[in-house]
Amino acid sequence: MAFQRSAQTLVTKKKCIPELARKYPWTRPQGDETGISIYNFYTRSKLPLILSTEGNLKWYVCGPTVYAEPHVGHACSFVRFDVIRRILMNVFDINVVFMMNFTNVDDKIIDKAKKVGQTTEQLSSHYESRFLQNMQQLNVLRPTIVHRVSDNVQNVIEFIERLVESGHAYVTGQGSVFFHCDSYEGYGSLSRMKVLPSEKTMFDDQKMKPQDFLLWKPHKVGEPFWDSPWGQGRPGWHIGCSALASKVFGEKIDIHSGGGDLKFPHHENELAQSNCYHHTNQWVNYWINSGACT
Ligand SMILES: [Zn+2]
Repeated sequence: MAFQRSAQTLVTKKKCIPELARKYPWTRPQGDETGISIYNFYTRSKLPLILSTEGNLKWYVCGPTVYAEPHVGHACSFVRFDVIRRILMNVFDINVVFMMNFTNVDDKIIDKAKKVGQTTEQLSSHYESRFLQNMQQLNVLRPTIVHRVSDNVQNVIEFIERLVESGHAYVTGQGSVFFHCDSYEGYGSLSRMKVLPSEKTMFDDQKMKPQDFLLWKPHKVGEPFWDSPWGQGRPGWHIGCSALASKVFGEKIDIHSGGGDLKFPHHENELAQSNCYHHTNQWVNYWINSGACT
């Protein structure tokens, strides 16, 4: 496992707004009462763990963006999740279906591949193997199901199409598709954060509002691309998790987890687009994060 100095933190101008938590309060699920208590980041409190399907637990974890060696943050997160997974399986006899997604289409992968003279596929599959190898060395159980964004772009496109049709996403003249945050009243309920109007990105010109985020990026020369109803391009970062988790688990996940640093905007965006896609207020019953989060 490589230990590296952290890259310079990308400063996102965001603001904590505690009142956002009240928009969509947590609803007690119907299902299998396990007698276990679990800390839910969504409510910032311990709650009874109730499984949506008797004896089965549907657990989705955001996997790494595979562009560099795994680091100690990955190890901390996945060892912690593994301990909880093993307790649920071995002590409480729950059948845990643990699904992980590799983000293998992303700006960082494209930049690094260009730098080292490889294709994005070569680079990402190398670091995917390194990640799985390192987790095995740490005795972390393999996920039950693994998916990659590049293998499932059609699912991503269908997911985005439904959001566009229902008015939760919009297409720009340049072939980008953005999620329309104002169309979803619960935005910020999980992280209790919003992007401040001062945030600038390279796509600002096309956005209706600063917090709107990209679902589909138009093709640029030298980047991987797929055909879509909006022209050639590739999925944005956040949409892969929602589309792939929904492909496997449908409209409900029991546990969703990831590094605490992903709580905003990544998890917030995942939740917003998935709630809209599934016409629900609670796509995930329990959010477990690893690392610093408040
Ligand atoms: Zn994710």
